[in-house]
Amino acid sequence: MAKPRAIIIGGSVGGLFAANMLRSTGWDAVVFERNTEELAGRGAGISTHPQLHDVMKRLGIPFDDSMGISVDKVVFIDNKGVTYDTRDTVRVMSSWGRIYRSLRDMLPPDSYRLGMNLVNVEQDADGVTAIFANGHRERGDLLIGADGGRSTVREKMLPDMLPSYAGYVAWRAMLDEKQIPPKIHAEIFDRYTYCLPPGELMLAYPVPGRNNETQPGHRAYNIVWYRPTQPRRLTDLCTDTTGRNYGTSIPPPLIRPKIIAEMKATARALVAPQVAEIFERDPQPFFQPIFDLDSPRTVFGRVALLGDAAFIARPHPGAGTTKAAMDAEHLADSIQALGLEKGLAKYQREQGAFGSGIVKQGQRDGAYLTEQLLPIEHRKNKALTWAVDDLMTDHNNRSEALRGILEASRAVAE
Ligand SMILES: Cc1cc2nc3c(=O)[nH]c(=O)nc-3n(C[C@H](O)[C@H](O)[C@H](O)COP(=O)(O)OP(=O)(O)OC[C@H]3O[C@@H](n4cnc5c(N)ncnc54)[C@H](O)[C@@H]3O)c2cc1C
Repeated sequence: MAKPRAIIIGGSVGGLFAANMLRSTGWDAVVFERNTEELAGRGAGISTHPQLHDVMKRLGIPFDDSMGISVDKVVFIDNKGVTYDTRDTVRVMSSWGRIYRSLRDMLPPDSYRLGMNLVNVEQDADGVTAIFANGHRERGDLLIGADGGRSTVREKMLPDMLPSYAGYVAWRAMLDEKQIPPKIHAEIFDRYTYCLPPGELMLAYPVPGRNNETQPGHRAYNIVWYRPTQPRRLTDLCTDTTGRNYGTSIPPPLIRPKIIAEMKATARALVAPQVAEIFERDPQPFFQPIFDLDSPRTVFGRVALLGDAAFIARPHPGAGTTKAAMDAEHLADSIQALGLEKGLAKYQREQGAFGSGIVKQGQRDGAYLTEQLLPIEHRKNKALTWAVDDLMTDHNNRSEALRGILEASRAVAE
């Protein structure tokens, strides 16, 4: 008997988890990615959780030393370069590229198709058809929208649901380990560093290198700097030197050089000089605006949303990749146990409540940053300062919090 067939839209980590999980439960699954070239990670760092390690192990990918870099100390450094607090932690920092590569390598080459931009979806009682910009039509039993925060699949199913801007952006920079001055390397490289300029938040930590290596000398250093940014300023940031505006995100090479120069000068003034030096040496820092999206539904007949296409949570819980992995596992297991229709209903009920819980957690964690755009008299208590103890409680309880959200969501979904 022919295997049931899943069409997966989006070839990033969510799509790859879905394809590999479904294949492991007896499906034929093919990924369609709109980019024409193999995706490249830009070295984005990813916090990992035991829940992510478990899904990867189940797929046969051991979460060993080659997957990430362990960090056991957190330091808080002021803008004079003085370390004013040091705490213990247990964290494994990986990168989007490392996780992507290990999942991508598992798929047969003809199950991953580049240059396929989905533009429409049609479905009937017997199947679902994906329609691509090049006119190609692909038929399957199930279509999974793993096409990210700006999902076309979601737009077709829930046209009125739009991501809502949280009021701040994450500036990101990365530098190869070898390019870091030795004195700075010795002081901060192996640690997780926090800088807390008033109203802002910067995190910096080691990640696998551009070719996914984790050996000393071949790693990289990753900076994420959350900055409250008024919508009008975001429009300006997303406008290139010719005056063309790109909406709410702009390809990094098109960010105006003047803006990059201003950011580097601001880093010098506001954050630890050790981190500012690394930020300055990256030729191409870029920014990602932060959004929220809490979808009321994730299943529409034979179509299911997964990962960021289903829910956009702010990055503070560090759980986007972990959630995509858990969505894929739950979807495949539910369909295997209950069949397509009932399995999808279970997925929507349980993973929907889980996704919504993570969105709310991200909103709580980032409320301090959002509130910076309000007049000071309208901000709530914590918005006035960011205490080290509060930050560390959240920092060290992320995986526990995720477990709590999962349990609460299962209870709600009963
Ligand atoms: C600042 C920041 C920090 C983060 N830190 C962490 C962290 O520490 N830990 C963590 O786990 N997560 C983190 N995340 C979140 C994480 O990056 C995402 O949750 C994760 O990449 C989601 O994967 P995805 O596959 O669902 O979507 P995406 O990675 O967005 O991929 C969607 C894919 O679909 C493709 N696509 C889009 N439209 C179409 C179409 N019409 N047809 C075909 N293909 C299409 C795109 O080209 C893309 O390849 C962070 C995010 C941000 C912004």
